[in-house]
Parts: sequence; structure tokens; C-alpha cells
Amino acid sequence: MSGLMERLKSGEVLTADGAMGSLLIERGLPTGDCPERWNLDHPEVLEEIARLYAEAGAQIVQTNTFGGSPLKLSHYGLDICTEQINVTAVRAVRKAVSADVLVSASCGPTGRMLKPYGDVEPEEISAAFERQLKAILAEGVDMICIETMMDLGEATLAVQAARSVSTTIPIAATMTFDLTKHGFFTVMGVTIEQAAIALAEAGADIVGSNCGNGIDNMVAIAEEFHKHSNQPILIQSNAGLPEMVDNQIVYRETPEFMAARVPRLLESGVGIIGGCCGTTPAHITALRTAIKQHRTG
Ligand SMILES: [Zn+2]
Repeated sequence: MSGLMERLKSGEVLTADGAMGSLLIERGLPTGDCPERWNLDHPEVLEEIARLYAEAGAQIVQTNTFGGSPLKLSHYGLDICTEQINVTAVRAVRKAVSADVLVSASCGPTGRMLKPYGDVEPEEISAAFERQLKAILAEGVDMICIETMMDLGEATLAVQAARSVSTTIPIAATMTFDLTKHGFFTVMGVTIEQAAIALAEAGADIVGSNCGNGIDNMVAIAEEFHKHSNQPILIQSNAGLPEMVDNQIVYRETPEFMAARVPRLLESGVGIIGGCCGTTPAHITALRTAIKQHRTG
């Protein structure tokens, strides 16, 4: 037992890790290649990244399994390696971090659309998530984080698949929203209220948002979740929106800028704060420090 839910219910606020993709690219992952291929070819790089985030103060470190469902891996012809890819990712994090760090299994979209918008049946989506999560849970993690979801149908199928594989594992489910003049919606038109209700009904213990926004929008998203949910909220904010400068993707929010918004996140019932695209170990250190200061200050 991780005791994660007990810790959150007692009011503890945990710091999660930051971006994975950009650190892999810095270490040589070619853009357009399958990030999960590196679980097989370069586990030492995954260990290094997990160690960097744990040393930076992350109490929750994620596995490199965001695209580890067989439906997503089939895009690269790697679905036959589903079990191996997911198992090696868990092992790399476990090997790199101390026993008090919680290991969170990242689980992202399949990249396929459900009928009638796309060509996939719900049963195929469920089977894909179940296969990935069975491999992960057999290896042993402390929580599952279903993230960057935009379609509520796929998100709820993922949560239900996780719940069918384990009745006790803490499940977080987060969606990615865009700010429109009518408020926040995912690209598939899901509101925060709809997400909060449906994800909890499907079996999620923790709800929230990751990616797609900088920290100011994430404060507003957390406030909206807090209105519609009694569950702990997870926020993993980008370091702003990506900008192209000299053919390089740049994220402009500094660790200090993001950390200054931590008190407002805590007032909105956020129980886990981490980073998404553009965040670095320095961002995680600043977030952890701000959480500690708010508690004691
Ligand atoms: Zn992101």
C-alpha cells in the first residue's frame, strides 16, 4: 500500500515530477521517434531522468509509459513489445529512486478516436489499456496517472480499465483544456464540470489537468475543479505555451514565476503539483519549496 490517498486526505500536498519528452530529446531522442522505444534501448537514460527529478524534490516520479498502450505502440510497430516496454519503464524508475518516492504509471491517449468520430470500438480501447496496465501493475507501482486526455469517452474507458485491473490502486485522471471565450473546454468539447463528474464516476480517486496551459490558466482550472469535485486535485502545468525561437521550442515560465502561484493552487484543494511540457528539475525544486513554505509560513 502506498498510503497515497491517506496522505492526501490528511492534507499533505505532494510534489510530482516535470517534463519527460524534452529531457529525452536533449539526450538524443530523435523528434518523431517513439519515446517508449528508449525503455528497451536506453534504460540508463530513464534512470538518470528519474534520479534528477527525485533529487530535485519530486515525491512522485512517473514512468516513461505515456504512449505505452498497444494501440499507440502499434503506430511504431512496437505493440508486440507492450509488456517489455512497460515493465522496463517501471524497473528503471524503481532502480533510480529511493523507497519513499512514489512511482506513478503514466498512461496517455491511444492516439485513436472512438466511433463515430474515428474507427475504434470501445472494447478495443479498453483491451489496450488493460493490457498495458496489467503489465505495469504486475511490476508494481504506487498509482496510475491517466493524463492528457481530451475525449471523455476514452478517459473514462481508461479509468475503468485501470479499476478492472486493480480495485485498490489509486487512480488519477487528468484532461487537457483550452481557454475559449466561453470558458475551458478540451478539444473534444468537454467541460471541467463534466470531467470532474464522469472521471469520479468511472473510478478515479484524483482528478485534474495537465499540459496545454501555463500556470495562470491552471490556477483557474483548479478553481473550477474545486467547485465541482470533492476529490484531491492534480495539476501538472506547462511552463507556459511553446514558442518557436530560432527553430527551437521555448517555454518562458521560470521556476520562480510558477512557484509564486502555488498558494493559489493550494487554496483550490490541489493535492499534487507537478510540471508538464517545458518544466525542468529546477521548476520542481521551486514548486516543492513553495509548497513547504506555504505549509509552515
Ligand atoms: Zn505537456
